[in-house]
Amino acid sequence: MSRSRGPHEKQSRGGGVWLSGNDVDECGGEAMKCEGVTAKGKRCRARAVGGSRTCLLHTPGEAARLGARGGRARSFRLPVEGELITPPTTALSLRDFVAEALAKVRGGTMDVRIGNCVGQLASVLSRVIESATFESRLAALEAAEKMRASCHDR
Ligand SMILES: [Zn+2]
Repeated sequence: MSRSRGPHEKQSRGGGVWLSGNDVDECGGEAMKCEGVTAKGKRCRARAVGGSRTCLLHTPGEAARLGARGGRARSFRLPVEGELITPPTTALSLRDFVAEALAKVRGGTMDVRIGNCVGQLASVLSRVIESATFESRLAALEAAEKMRASCHDR
C-alpha cells in the first residue's frame, strides 16, 4: 500500500551539516580539496563543494553570506522583545514552557544558546518541582496524621 509522505519527512533530512568543512569522503579516494588559502596563509583543508574548486568559505560571495549568517548567529538574540513570562512552577506549566522553547528553537525564533540554557534550567527545575511536590504532600499527610492522632487521644 502506498502512504502519502507525511509533512515532516521533508524536515528530517539531517539538518544543517552542509557547513562542515571537514567532511570525509567515504567513497574512497581524495575528495576535491579547496584551493583557497586560510587567513594564516596555509592551504585550506576543507572539501571543495559541488563541482567548484573551493569550499563554501572560499567561494566568492559565499563567505560574506556565511559571515553575515554567523554574525547574526553570534549576536545574542533574546526571545521576542524580551517578553516577560510567568515562571513555570508546576510540572505541567514547565512542560508547556519547555515545549514552547523547543518549538521556538526549531523554528528559529529563539537563540540556540537560550534554548540550551532553558533546557538546563528546566531539568533542574523539574527535579526541584518533583521534590517540592513530594515535600508538601508529605507535610500534608503528616499534619493530617497528627490531627487524627490528637483527636484519638481525647
Ligand atoms: Zn577553503
